[in-house]
Amino acid sequence: MHLGVILNRVFRTKGNPLFDYVESHSDVIDKLYFILPIEDLSDASEVKQNYYYDVVKSFVHVLEKHNIHPYIIPYQKLGELGDELELSHILVAKDIMSYHKESYDFRHVKLAFQKHEIEVIGQRVNHYFHPSTTFNKQKQPYQVFTSFYKENRGKLSHTPRNNYQFKQLSQYAEKGSNQSELQLNTNNDMEKSARKSWTSFLSDDISNYDKLIEDVSLDFVSGLSTYLAYGLLDIREVINDLLEGYESNEKNYEAYIREVMFREFYYILMTQYPETATKSFSKKYRSMQWSYNKSHFKAWQEGETGYPIIDAAMKKLKHTGYMHNRLRLVVSQFLTKNLFIDWSWGEDYFRKYLIDYDNASNVHGWQWSASTGTDAVPYFRMFNPMRQSERFDAQGHFIRSQLSVMKDVSNKYIHDPTKNKDKLKENFNIEIGKDYPEKIVDHKESRDHVMSKFKQF
Ligand SMILES: Cc1cc2nc3c(=O)[nH]c(=O)nc-3n(C[C@H](O)[C@H](O)[C@H](O)COP(=O)(O)OP(=O)(O)OC[C@H]3O[C@@H](n4cnc5c(N)ncnc54)[C@H](O)[C@@H]3O)c2cc1C
Repeated sequence: MHLGVILNRVFRTKGNPLFDYVESHSDVIDKLYFILPIEDLSDASEVKQNYYYDVVKSFVHVLEKHNIHPYIIPYQKLGELGDELELSHILVAKDIMSYHKESYDFRHVKLAFQKHEIEVIGQRVNHYFHPSTTFNKQKQPYQVFTSFYKENRGKLSHTPRNNYQFKQLSQYAEKGSNQSELQLNTNNDMEKSARKSWTSFLSDDISNYDKLIEDVSLDFVSGLSTYLAYGLLDIREVINDLLEGYESNEKNYEAYIREVMFREFYYILMTQYPETATKSFSKKYRSMQWSYNKSHFKAWQEGETGYPIIDAAMKKLKHTGYMHNRLRLVVSQFLTKNLFIDWSWGEDYFRKYLIDYDNASNVHGWQWSASTGTDAVPYFRMFNPMRQSERFDAQGHFIRSQLSVMKDVSNKYIHDPTKNKDKLKENFNIEIGKDYPEKIVDHKESRDHVMSKFKQF
């Protein structure tokens, strides 16, 4: 066979099942090409674009050290290259959810290659469970996380490492060229940095995970979502590490494993119900008349809602491409409940800004907050943004770190400036409505509105 191996989003040299496949099929491969199609991220934030390009460059740098020179092309040239190289087969990851565009996923790529009469081989590279075999006792898809977790947690086990040799791989592979606009000018090894940061999390922070994870001012997180979104680390390696360290601190390791299982749950759900990428999981809410108020949406995007916890979180997202899980919950509830804006608007905005964007976790995270998803928060349990702020940023450290206007404001007034506008003027010379926006909606009024809307169903 003439095999093309698509490397996008599996940016790692260790534990890469694509390399393993090549090595174990070397007797039937006559010609081998490594191909790195570059995603079009023109509608993504600059921060997200830069991260993606940095990872690609670093990966190419490491591959070249192993004497592997991939073909680097824009995604839309993939079919053309396939014909030019006279490929008979393409090997491609079939379980990646982090592509910037849906057209890069397995389903679409498979269809595109079928038109060129190239056979597509799908390989699992980024998730632990198989959607085609993961069902509940009634042989139905899992719709509730707790039952998925209870029945599948015991299936996590140690996976042996792949042991392909680059020396051999580089001997079979044809030498490609850079046919993209990417300037390959880096000495970084981002796979190595990701592993270093993951190891450091395991040797220290994980032992306080359960206790400190909800304090948004600490950003007490692993960063794993980003490493998985780019395939810098192998999920099987992650699970091996978690099982190996487990006995040292069962409570915290279990809390962490539970989170990782959430990612698997949403991946399976999304594969089994692909229509939920754009439609509410709960069919009865598909006809909900959401608001499409553009000025409210803009205020939310820009961090100008008058709710400091929302504004600080949105500004941080814009500057860094990251947002803490608790804050993702708070801002998504604010958009879909307080502003009653269609969750798909928020989902699309996160896609453009989140470096760790993952379609399954994002869509289902949004649908959880909007109460339209599976196992979602009931609509009557709507968050109060001020209470969330007092609870998860009690000292206001996070708000002050993002909103310079609030840098001297005391804990007592920082969570609700509109209510305390006289004190802010008197004590800190801050004029609400001028130096910092007045609340764009009243929490109680928006709560009444949400209740009346949902009660109609
Ligand atoms: C509205 C909304 C949108 C989200 N969008 C994304 C997204 O695009 N990409 C993404 O990876 N995660 C998303 N999440 C889930 C979660 O917020 C992130 O996985 C987490 O914040 C990533 O940071 P971390 O790896 O440092 O987290 P850690 O606390 O260190 O968590 C460890 C790992 O557990 C998994 N995990 C934790 N919480 C969740 C969760 N609620 N759902 C699924 N997996 C979880 C992730 O793989 C994460 O890397 C979203 C959550 C919400 C509420």
